[in-house]
Amino acid sequence: MELSITNKEAILRKLEDIVGQDFASNKAEDLFIYSQDSGASIPRPVDYVIMPRTVEEVQKIVRLANKEKISLVPMGAGMTLSGLTIPIKGGIVVDMKRMDQIIEINKTSRYALIEAGVTTGILTAYLEKHHPDLEVSIPDAPPSATVTGNALIHGSGFLSQKYGNHGEMINGLEIVLPNGEICKLGSCCISDYWFTRGPIPDLIGLFISSFGTLGIATRLSIKLYPKDKLRDLAVGVFGNPKMIPVAISKITQIDLAEDITFFVQDKPAFMKGNVFLMTFITGNTQEEIDSKTKKLKRLYRKTKGSYMKIPEELNKFFLEKPMFISTAADYRKGGGFEYVGSFMPLGKIPEAIEKARDISLKYGISPTQVCRVIGKGHNVMFAASFSFNRADPADIENARNALHETNKLVLDLGGIIWKSELTGQKLILEKMDPNYKKLFNAIRNVVDPNGIMNPGNWEIR
Ligand SMILES: Cc1cc2nc3c(=O)[nH]c(=O)nc-3n(C[C@H](O)[C@H](O)[C@H](O)COP(=O)(O)OP(=O)(O)OC[C@H]3O[C@@H](n4cnc5c(N)ncnc54)[C@H](O)[C@@H]3O)c2cc1C
Repeated sequence: MELSITNKEAILRKLEDIVGQDFASNKAEDLFIYSQDSGASIPRPVDYVIMPRTVEEVQKIVRLANKEKISLVPMGAGMTLSGLTIPIKGGIVVDMKRMDQIIEINKTSRYALIEAGVTTGILTAYLEKHHPDLEVSIPDAPPSATVTGNALIHGSGFLSQKYGNHGEMINGLEIVLPNGEICKLGSCCISDYWFTRGPIPDLIGLFISSFGTLGIATRLSIKLYPKDKLRDLAVGVFGNPKMIPVAISKITQIDLAEDITFFVQDKPAFMKGNVFLMTFITGNTQEEIDSKTKKLKRLYRKTKGSYMKIPEELNKFFLEKPMFISTAADYRKGGGFEYVGSFMPLGKIPEAIEKARDISLKYGISPTQVCRVIGKGHNVMFAASFSFNRADPADIENARNALHETNKLVLDLGGIIWKSELTGQKLILEKMDPNYKKLFNAIRNVVDPNGIMNPGNWEIR
């Protein structure tokens, strides 16, 4: 809905009444950063930004938006790179950063109950200080990414090979629905303990990968895991990508790894033509680590790879959490990057590596791919990354075209585009079973009849 200037100012006053003058704005200089992200998406206009501190404030914002028929876009850190928090139809960006309290760490049932603005950096630092024997799986994204934003997009991290993607690690959610009501999902709807999703109809899944179209999450319970004392890395180098599924099946069969990631890059030159498989191992004694390393060396050899000993300093660098990749956006000064992430069947990885590489070369971008095994080979997060110069519109357009072609490749190979930007969402919807779309649309129409929640995403109606 197009608002007149008088209306715009009147709405700003109402937003300020809810959160205070310092935390609501429609000034161009405040909105600028919310109209874009660090990926290749074209900037889009934002009408207001608001930063609530309490769930009651979120309720008031939602009720106001419903009354005035203004769109709402929930935002954690806005780090997806695929434009998911840039409003498609204008409206209010609800920046959750101020809701940053860790409410409870339940050591016995191993979960953290947190507000939606808690970042991976805040939670990790807190656990390291107060509960060094527990850990949470975090992505290799900058530590400003929120645990909630990441879990809600089916993210993954260093514990995902062992325990699945982050969406699966959610025990409970508190949601402000588009009508302003609070809904608790998981055991917390019955019990004081946020320890499990079942055994009741599991509605949490509806809120994962729906990109804020069904409500605003205000609290989340995420699983914590026991932390081993030692962690190390065994790197395998494979000349033939066809051996990657074989090696991964064997590693997961004997339960050796904490995390398995692999890289395919043309730069630096020594990496060209090889797949670098990084198997992270943990243990409580050096003997345990040595024994796992020995087994991996043998396994790499048997699957036509070789073990690569890396210098101590480099090893430390790779063992950082989040990994060095979180600085990847700065590889090209003044530049940017975006990747097509996808969920890919393990068996399709060799073809994906080869074809995504061809796409990079076609668009004159140095091939860079990174993958993470999720579960015991049940799924692979396959990402093809494209860098560009942000100051050069033609170069950004070039990257966008490469991203689009990779989106198509993912679907052709039987994979699914992950945290997909708008054009990728359209491709998914074109391929999706009509009854899946019908069901999702019906749910959405009931939950959000005025279509205020992040409209334009998953646009079926
Ligand atoms: C260098 C780099 C490396 C990365 N590596 C990884 C990786 O290893 N693994 C991985 O999973 N990701 C990775 N990412 C992607 C990034 O981590 C995730 O996109 C990010 O963690 C999402 O969290 P966020 O707080 O930025 O969410 P946002 O981008 O703010 O939001 C994501 C989506 O969730 C919705 N949303 C956010 N908060 C709420 C809420 N409270 N209620 C309802 N909806 C909400 C938003 O509307 C949006 O649709 C990487 C990104 C970069 C830049």
